[in-house]
Amino acid sequence: MNEADSRHLSSQLEALGYNPIASADEADLVVLNTCVVRQQAENKALSRLSSLKGAKEKRPEMTIALMGCMVGIREAPRLKRQFPYVDVFMPPSETEPLLDYLAEKGLYEADRSFDTREKALREAIQDEEFTLPSSLRGQSVTANVPVVLGCSHACTFCVIPYRRGAERSKPPGDIIEEVTRLADQGVREVMLLGQIIDRYGLDFEDDSDLAGLLQRVAAIPGLARVRFLTSHPNWMTDRLIGVVADTEKICPHIEIPVQAGNDKVLEAMRRGYTVDEYRRVVERIRRRMPDAAVHTDIIVGFCGETEDQFMDTYRLAEEIQWEKIHIAKYSVRPKTIAARSMPDDVPAGEKERRRKMLDDLQTQILGKKNSDLLGQEIEVLVENEHKGRWRGRTPHNKLVYFRDDRDLQGRIVDVRIDETHPYSLTGETQYDKAHAVTP
Ligand code: SAH
Repeated sequence: MNEADSRHLSSQLEALGYNPIASADEADLVVLNTCVVRQQAENKALSRLSSLKGAKEKRPEMTIALMGCMVGIREAPRLKRQFPYVDVFMPPSETEPLLDYLAEKGLYEADRSFDTREKALREAIQDEEFTLPSSLRGQSVTANVPVVLGCSHACTFCVIPYRRGAERSKPPGDIIEEVTRLADQGVREVMLLGQIIDRYGLDFEDDSDLAGLLQRVAAIPGLARVRFLTSHPNWMTDRLIGVVADTEKICPHIEIPVQAGNDKVLEAMRRGYTVDEYRRVVERIRRRMPDAAVHTDIIVGFCGETEDQFMDTYRLAEEIQWEKIHIAKYSVRPKTIAARSMPDDVPAGEKERRRKMLDDLQTQILGKKNSDLLGQEIEVLVENEHKGRWRGRTPHNKLVYFRDDRDLQGRIVDVRIDETHPYSLTGETQYDKAHAVTP
């Protein structure tokens, strides 16, 4: 989501005459877009922020803007006291405060034919929201497109509702327009984003839903693939599963966090389902799409999680055999229900042990699953060049590397897999196949 916000802001800034520069130390304007979902992410943002302090002291004319979840919807006054050298604070997805600041200070090249700076600014950025910044035009094969903003679920561990505000869906017209523009600028795959994306459209009066949106997006000319994340088990309808199964351009790849494999822990997290209910959702997905890539998120070491409860999660991972697990060690987040009322009582060393145990299991599971792909020919959308090899992804979101002298960026090619690893595959393109390269 931050990546999409940064992209929007970059193209708006370009319209105002700004250009990207390699080093923040020499920039006229630095925007730091922040994530605070875990303490680790917050620490990274804080350290970047403090490294900008020196630059600002040397060059006071530099503008520093802080954006994203660190600012959230109501942290700005506190942050302003803490970081007086920051000029502008922007909540997630809101570029207005910076644009207004630049207009106020006259810090962009205004078209003099307008009677006010304000009008010149609006005119200049009018069309920019849906375009890629020039550095990415023709370069980005994939793009993220937020379609549900905010979240109203309030899982006890999660800071997102406090920082991104209440859940709201974006109008379908805006989404179609944005994806159409991205496709015109060379993007071949979009990832639709939402905290609970399978709730898309439920806040509209009509019968809009994610399944319908996915069908409309998949029909956009030039686009080869559509993905979506993150789904919540309670909203995964058969209609959605059916549309994913029946629409070729929608990848058979579903990210559906379980977070824990024990009912007591799920209850403490207020996830709103039991392990058995989760199991049945995965069964419904796999019955309709036997080869679907089902991914999940798991938090280890949540407040009060016992060794036995963790082992329930471990055994669930053995049972479900997810195609990918994003594992996180529980991290206390300010103002969440857990931070206010539950002790963070699993020691750091124990959290790390549980993380590693689960990670080793998943390496083993993926090593085995991927070895089954040896010798197979798989369709790869080529994203970019990486150390002399092409890098792309399969519809199931597996990373594939291969060598080929042709310029294949943005193309779909058939690759025969000749080597497999838990987290990537390598292979060869099939030269003899006339149909192998499709524009
Ligand atoms: N809305 C999605 C994803 C939210 S954020 C969902 O909850 O299903 C992405 C992931 O970060 C979460 O799935 C969770 O695994 C992790 N996460 C969120 N808050 C966390 C915290 N306080 N500590 C550790 N991991 C956390």
